[in-house]
Amino acid sequence: MSTATKEETLGFQTEVKQLLNLMIHSLYSNREIFLRELISNAADACDKLRYAALDNDTLYEGDSELRVEIEHDSEAGTVTLRDNGIGMSRDDVIANLGTIAKSGTAEFLQQLSGEQQKDANLIGQFGVGFYSSFIVADEVTVRTRKAGTDAAEGVEWRSAGEGEFTIAELEREAHGTEIVLHLKDDAKEYADDFRLQNLVRKYSDHIEVPVKMPKTETARDDEGNAIEGSEVTTWETINEATALWVRPKSEVTEDEYKAFYKHVSHDFSDPLTWSHNKVEGKLEYTSLLFVPGRAPFDLYERDGARGVKLYVQRVFIMDDAEQFLPLYLRFIKGVLDTRDLSLNVSREILQQDPQVEKIKSALTKRSLDMLKKLAKDNEAYQTFWNTFGSVLKEGPGEDAGNREKIAGLLRFSSTHTDSATQDQSLADYVERMKEGQQKIYYIVADGFNAAKNSPHLEIFRKKGIEVLLLADRIDEWLMSHLTEFDGKSLTDVAKGELDLGDVEDEDEKKAQAETARDKEDLVKRVREALSDGVQEVKITHRLTDSPACVVLPENEMGFQMRRIMEAAGQPMPEVKPILELNPEHALVARLENADDATFSDLAHILLDQAIIAEGGHLDDPAAYVKRLNGVLTA
Ligand code: ADP
Ligand code: MG
Repeated sequence: MSTATKEETLGFQTEVKQLLNLMIHSLYSNREIFLRELISNAADACDKLRYAALDNDTLYEGDSELRVEIEHDSEAGTVTLRDNGIGMSRDDVIANLGTIAKSGTAEFLQQLSGEQQKDANLIGQFGVGFYSSFIVADEVTVRTRKAGTDAAEGVEWRSAGEGEFTIAELEREAHGTEIVLHLKDDAKEYADDFRLQNLVRKYSDHIEVPVKMPKTETARDDEGNAIEGSEVTTWETINEATALWVRPKSEVTEDEYKAFYKHVSHDFSDPLTWSHNKVEGKLEYTSLLFVPGRAPFDLYERDGARGVKLYVQRVFIMDDAEQFLPLYLRFIKGVLDTRDLSLNVSREILQQDPQVEKIKSALTKRSLDMLKKLAKDNEAYQTFWNTFGSVLKEGPGEDAGNREKIAGLLRFSSTHTDSATQDQSLADYVERMKEGQQKIYYIVADGFNAAKNSPHLEIFRKKGIEVLLLADRIDEWLMSHLTEFDGKSLTDVAKGELDLGDVEDEDEKKAQAETARDKEDLVKRVREALSDGVQEVKITHRLTDSPACVVLPENEMGFQMRRIMEAAGQPMPEVKPILELNPEHALVARLENADDATFSDLAHILLDQAIIAEGGHLDDPAAYVKRLNGVLTA
């Protein structure tokens, strides 16, 4: 019998306390997941031992039949899970069962609202893990020993999930981990054969390690009476116990795929879609890739988890093998199992292996195809886009080779609907292009309303030409890499010369040239009045309602990008805009007739207003207000 000695009491890290509190309260209606989490950990521990034993099979300590065992005692109200996996040292136990190592945890906890449903969703994205034991147990005991260490190096960990835990030395013959849950009064239902078996099948069929439960058989005499003392207990495997991705597609049900997704992703909710493929030939691998329906909490964390779980010939090698998918597909979860790598690959080797590059390019194509297929289902694709669209927008910049493919997957807001929902594809746009229109037009602004109401759109609205409305932070960067779609160039309506192609006829163009000649004097005067604020002044026909707008030269970095760079502390060289005037506007007519004193004030007001309408900041806002008040009170 093992005994624990030298007991010591330690406090949980603050984040753990917060998480425990929250979990117990918000996951009540979902509490059976504790079993999934614990089996998942046990299976991981077996995977890790198998991997470590590749180099040193004495680590098995003579017991290489990896397994998870589950027992219960309904009288005592306990459930016990046991594995003969890698086990934990004392330091491991303190680090793994006393702290949370995930980056971004503090930020995550700050988002929590105290509102049950919302928080339950958030925790789902975060992943609950071992601590979920405390949803059903008021006391948890963990006994463990790291494979390959002395029997004397066992550890016993015990906690009621309330702020502290005790840790003690333990003599333990077997390596691996045993977890005893003392069920809460209202959770005693889990100490039941039938219930446990159902849960194991529901959550763990796809795990390769067998999950076993004891079955007691009693011999009977001729009359059918149990023979006393004849009970024999055998361990019966409850789950399917083959790795799901190894099975033929046709034999795996939707529910099994969904359950497997939850195992690899730590997500609570179903995936949107998946793609399961076996490849034979030059490259030999099986991949099973999922598109989640929800963003993980660390999607935008620099060192957040990403990538697939890597197996080599069915042996688990590592989590989050990020070398197999580009960064802009970091939301994809799943498994890659290959024969093309050696069992002792490391992250460093992966970075150099030419096979890895090939598999990456194949998985990238698969993922993009999977999204293309998903796009046939408008509602599902919209969910995807709202969740991960801004990540996919990194694609054209990162992956020039797949630019056209990615472009087909993008969705935008547009003047076609004037709605902030990004649900229009470039193909939709092209289909609606006007006769004579050669370009795809877009505008980038700081916010959706700024884009939608920009003066630059006036002529386009008048002519019925659609313009894409871009307002995400990444949009200007995206468009700098996306210059063409379906043979049509993409054009920023706030940059360079306005070119409506053949939508305007010769007569219109002639009339415009004539107006421009008429107003040459005015343009010259404005230019002089604003000498150091603009690089050029022009007469425009972009505008119908506004008196003026500012335009940037064709190859100049846009206003949105400049503001982002400046906010990031990057000094930007000054760029002077081109001021364009609407010759039809009453304010411009007033300007033309103004005396010298008012002229300069009015010209400055027009320029400043045009900058404000663009979402820009004035260098000297007080001067603007003063001038405006001067004109208003004149
Ligand atoms: P995660 O599994 O996402 O890492 P968990 O909270 O489930 O988070 O587990 C925390 C850590 O505790 C694991 O990463 C692992 O190192 C350790 N652990 C948990 N259960 C076991 C086990 N049965 N055997 C060995 N180590 C375990
Ligand atoms: Mg876990």
